[in-house]
Amino acid sequence: MKKDKLSWKEGLRLNGRAARLLWKNYPQVFISDALKEVFSTLIPFVNIWFSARIIGELAGARNRETLIYMILILLLANLLLSVLRAAFVRWNETALWVAYRSKETLFDEKLLSMDFATLDNSHTRDLFLKIKQNESWSDWGFPRMLRYAGSLVKAVIGICGTLALTWNLFLLQVPEGAGGLSVLNSPVVNIVMIALMFAAVILSPAISKKSMDYWTNYSEEARFGNRIFTFYTYYFGIYERRRALDARMYRQDIICRNNMEKGDMFGIKSPIAALARGPMGMLSAAADTVSRIFTGAVYLFVCIKAWAGAFGVGEVTQYISAITMLYGSLALFLRTVGEMQTNASFVKDILDFLDIPDDMYKGSLTVEKRNDCKYEVEFCNVSFRYPNTEEYALKNVSLRFRIGEKLAVVGENGSGKTTLIKLLCRLYDPTEGEIRLNGIDIRKYDYKEYMSVFSVVFQDFALFAFSLGQNVAATEQYDEIKVKKCLKEAGLEERITCMKSGLETYLYKDFDEEGVEISGGEAQKIAIARALYKNAGFLILDEPTAALDPVAEYEIYTKFGKIVGGRTAIYISHRLASCRFCDEIVVFDKGRICQRGSHENLLADTGGKYYALWNAQAQYYKSPAAAMLNAETSGIK
Ligand code: ADP
Repeated sequence: MKKDKLSWKEGLRLNGRAARLLWKNYPQVFISDALKEVFSTLIPFVNIWFSARIIGELAGARNRETLIYMILILLLANLLLSVLRAAFVRWNETALWVAYRSKETLFDEKLLSMDFATLDNSHTRDLFLKIKQNESWSDWGFPRMLRYAGSLVKAVIGICGTLALTWNLFLLQVPEGAGGLSVLNSPVVNIVMIALMFAAVILSPAISKKSMDYWTNYSEEARFGNRIFTFYTYYFGIYERRRALDARMYRQDIICRNNMEKGDMFGIKSPIAALARGPMGMLSAAADTVSRIFTGAVYLFVCIKAWAGAFGVGEVTQYISAITMLYGSLALFLRTVGEMQTNASFVKDILDFLDIPDDMYKGSLTVEKRNDCKYEVEFCNVSFRYPNTEEYALKNVSLRFRIGEKLAVVGENGSGKTTLIKLLCRLYDPTEGEIRLNGIDIRKYDYKEYMSVFSVVFQDFALFAFSLGQNVAATEQYDEIKVKKCLKEAGLEERITCMKSGLETYLYKDFDEEGVEISGGEAQKIAIARALYKNAGFLILDEPTAALDPVAEYEIYTKFGKIVGGRTAIYISHRLASCRFCDEIVVFDKGRICQRGSHENLLADTGGKYYALWNAQAQYYKSPAAAMLNAETSGIK
C-alpha cells in the first residue's frame, strides 16, 4: 500500500506548520544545526580558494614570503573554522538529543488531555502506533524535520559559494590563436555546458528519489513487519512477564518464531530485498552513473580550456573542485526538498493526531467543597452506547445514590456495571439522559473539580514503579501517618513491617534493585489504600477483591463499614456474597436495572435475577471462608 500522494502546496503547508511547531519548542536545534553547517561548508571553500592561489604562485612567481603568508592564513582559517564547527556540532548533538526525547511530551500531553472516549477509540490508537512505527522504521516525521534546517543551509551556502568560485570559468577567454579551441569562447558552448550541468544535477537526484520511493512506499508493509517483530520479541518474551511465563510453560515461542518468519519484511526473501536486487538497486546505480559522467565532462571542459591558455594551473583545481561541490550542493538541495515532500505525508499523520478534537463539553462550574462529604449523584434515564457500536451497554438507567450509604451493583459479566462507573467518572458522556451532581448536570462542572469528589479502584487498576508511599499518595511528597493509616485500613500493615525501607520501598525492580515484587492481592490492597488516601466523598470499588484470597476478602468486608466511614460507597461485584453488607443492592441485567432492594428482599423474590444468580453461586458460599463471611457480614453496616 502506498502513502497518499500530497500536492506540493499541501506539502509546503504541512512542512511549514511542523517547522513552526518544532521551532517554537526547540529553536536551539535549528540554530545549532544551521551554524554547524555554515562553518562546515566554509572550510572547503577556504581550502579551494587558497589552494588555487598557492598552486598558481608555485607555478608562477614562486615568491617565498607570499607562499608562507598564504599557507599560514590557510592553516589559521582552518583551525578557527574547525574549532567553531566542532563547538556547534556538539551543541547540535545535545540539542537534538534533548529534542528527540522531549518531543515525546507533545504526544504525552495530547494523550493525557484528550477525551477518554477518543483515547479508547481504535482509530486513535492505530494512528499513534503508525506515527511511532514510522519513526522507528526510518525516522520519518518529526525526527527528520529536525535535521532539514542544516541540510538546506549547507545546500544554499554551497550553491552561492561555488557559483562565486566558478563564475570566471565561463568568462575567461581562450587567447586568440588557440586555433579550433577558440570555439570554447562561444556563448553557445558555455550555455550547452551550463545546461548539461543543470540537467545532470536534476536528473541524478530525480533518479535517486525514484529509487528512494520504493523504500518509503514500503513503509506500510514494513510497519506490519515491525509490529510483528516488536510484539513477538520485546513484548512477548522479555518485557511482559505475564506472558513470558505462559510462553515458557506452553512453548508458545515456537508459534511466535513461525509468525515472525512469516511476517519477516526485511529478510533475504522479503519484497524489499527483491526490490533492492531489481529496480531499486538499478535506479540507485543509474543515479550514480549520471553524476560520474557529468563530473568527467566537467573535468574535460576545464582541462581543455586551461590547456588552450584561458587560465593557469591554480584555477584548474579551483574550478574542478568548485563545480563538483556545486553539483553536490544542488543535488543536496533538491534531495532535501524532495525528501521534505515525502516526509510531509508522515508529518500529516502527526498533525492529524495532535489536531484530534475534544468533543466533550468542558464545563467550568466549581464543585462545592463539603467536609461532610454530602454529595448527591443521580442518573436520570441514562442510556449509553460505546462509540462505533450498535448495542446499548446501558439502557434507561435511573438511580440515585443516597448520601452516606453503601450501594452494591451486581450482575453478570457484561451487564453494564463498569460502564455505569465510567459514565459516573465522565470518561464517557451518556448517549441519552443526564447525570447530576447536587442537582446540576455533571457536564457543567470543571472536570478536575468534579473528579475530586470520587475515589475509584478500577478493576484493571495500575500501580507504578515508584515508592510505596508515593503510590498510595499519588504525589512525590506525602503525609506518612496518613499513608500508614490507609495501608492499615486496606489490610497491608504487616507487609510494610517486612519492607526494609518502609514507605520508601520501591515497588517492582524497574528503578531499584531492592524494589519489591508484590502479589496481585497486595497490589489490590495498595490500590484500595490509594483510593482511601484521596479522601473523596464517593468511594467506588470495582471488583475490589477479585485478586484477594478468601481470608483477605473477608478482612476487607468486615472492615468495609469502618473504611468507608461517612462516605457514599459504590461496590461493584459479581460475587453476591460480598455485597450483603451494603444498604441497597442494584441488580443489572443486559444494561438495565432489573431489581433493587436489600439482600433479604431480593432473595425473597424467587422468580428474580438475584435469586437465580445467588443459587448459581451457592457452591461458592459453602466454602469455609464464605461460611465465616456469611456469619459475620449479616451484622456489618
Ligand atoms: P460489566 O462491568 O458488567 O462486566 P461492562 O460495563 O464492562 O460490563 O460492559 C457492558 C457492555 O459493554 C458489554 O457488552 C461490553 O462488551 C461492552 N463494552 C465494554 N467496554 C467497551 C468498549 N470500550 N467498547 C465497546 N464495547 C464495550
